[in-house]
Amino acid sequence: MRKTIARTMVGLTAIMLVAFTLFTLAVIYPWFKAQQVSRLSWDLELAARAVETSGIETFIGLESTKSRITWISSDGTVLYDSQTDASLMSSHKDRTEFREALAYGRGSDQRMSDTLLEETLYQAVRLSDNTVLRVSQSMAGIWAMVLALAPGFALVLILVLAFAAILSSRISRAIVKPLEKLDLDHPLDNQLYDELSVLLVRLDAQNKEIKAQMKRLEELGKEFTSITDSMQEGLIVISDSSKVLSMNKAAMALMEIDAVPKGHDVLELCRSANMANAIDQAHVAGHSSFFMSRSSRQHLVSLSQVDSGIVILTQDITEAYNAQQSRKEFTANVSHELKTPLQAILGSAELMAKGMVSKENIQGFAERIYNETSHLVSLVDDIIRLSRLDEGQAVETEDVDLKDLVEETAALLAPSAFRRNVRVEIKAESYIAHTSRTLLGEIVYNILDNAIRYNKTGGKASVTQKGRTIVIEDNGIGIPYEDQSRVFDRFYRVDKSHSRATGGTGLGLSIVKHACSVLGASLRLESKPGIGTRVTVEL
Ligand code: ADP
Repeated sequence: MRKTIARTMVGLTAIMLVAFTLFTLAVIYPWFKAQQVSRLSWDLELAARAVETSGIETFIGLESTKSRITWISSDGTVLYDSQTDASLMSSHKDRTEFREALAYGRGSDQRMSDTLLEETLYQAVRLSDNTVLRVSQSMAGIWAMVLALAPGFALVLILVLAFAAILSSRISRAIVKPLEKLDLDHPLDNQLYDELSVLLVRLDAQNKEIKAQMKRLEELGKEFTSITDSMQEGLIVISDSSKVLSMNKAAMALMEIDAVPKGHDVLELCRSANMANAIDQAHVAGHSSFFMSRSSRQHLVSLSQVDSGIVILTQDITEAYNAQQSRKEFTANVSHELKTPLQAILGSAELMAKGMVSKENIQGFAERIYNETSHLVSLVDDIIRLSRLDEGQAVETEDVDLKDLVEETAALLAPSAFRRNVRVEIKAESYIAHTSRTLLGEIVYNILDNAIRYNKTGGKASVTQKGRTIVIEDNGIGIPYEDQSRVFDRFYRVDKSHSRATGGTGLGLSIVKHACSVLGASLRLESKPGIGTRVTVEL
């Protein structure tokens, strides 16, 4: 602003000075010329009278007169010239002043030199003898005047401009200084030029408006942060150039960082080709997604293009993923488990059908078919039970006396215990629990069945029920430590042949675990190889 003021003032001064000089020249030059013309006229008057009375001889020998005197005959021949030899001069018959003087008695002219530096004024008069007397005088032309004035003018111009520059700098400083001290946060507190009061009032109003908008934006920001931070899903907003704009807590936890890395490339946080490809795809198609595995958890990452960039949403799908994986595994295992007995049945039946089995062996083959079929039936039963549990159907609950349930279940397994020479002891007290009779029955049945089947001849299995706690214990073969965490997995068996030989399907404890979680019961297994196993169920 200061520069503009100073520049404007200096410029204006220069323009005014030049304009003034030109104006002065335009006025002075004609005035000066008029003075010259009037003096020349007077000189001519005097010269004419002198020639009329004393003849031209008056002037002969007269040197350095300021005015030049020329005497011309009526045919234009120069008879006398005060500065040049008349005989050398050409005819003046075409000169304007001469022709005018001959015609009207007086004539005048003014002629500029070729260089425009000199102007000559002519005045002529016709004498009584019809000759013409002419007086002329040269004066500086307008350009000569300009050139003569130029050095002085330049000096004045420089001085005036320097003065104007100093003055304008001071003035502009004086104008700008209060503006620099302007308190823009409180515009109305400033005591400044009256002309600025409208601007200050407007500024104050705008300040208030901006403050209100900032507050609203802040509130919106907080609202957005509190909503996104309470989300389970990770949310990342990135710009078109993949720079992080915002990120919620879940996303920060996923990326294992403490603060939002604003301005950083998202690929610095998630160095994966999948992410880079998904960003490219989202730019092209508007949407893309991929699966990402982090800290042994599975995430579905979805990208959607929005106005100012891309919104990335991450969803923890570990449970669904694991469920899908175990379903796949289960299907593969079921096929395998079903195939083995079916092949055995098919093989035996084929041999019998082709008459390749001797009469005495037929019973053995039939027994084998019977055993394998029974195994198939229990397998299918267990699969159906598990599928029902998987479906998550609502279970029917009722008041169940746990003592009755334990005793009834143990009674079902009495033949098996008898066959294996295992003593079953029941210690139960009457306790009414509101639960599912079927599921709890299955839990106790499967655990006690194992306690009998994985026992030694003459061994012992006991069921102790106290209140809502049921403990099933045996002093059988026990479970190796490394297998204890896996025995609840579907089709997991420590000793497959022993399990099959005793009619096991590998699904018993999976059903127990599933049923317990449906009933909300806790399940604990403790086992020492060679000493025995204890399973505690607490409703
Ligand atoms: P299975 O039908 O084979 O018995 P389960 O799921 O009931 O299948 O048990 C899984 C495996 O855990 C069994 O194959 C067995 O090896 C082991 N197991 C379960 N209960 C006992 C126990 N009380 N004593 C020793 N081993 C056991």
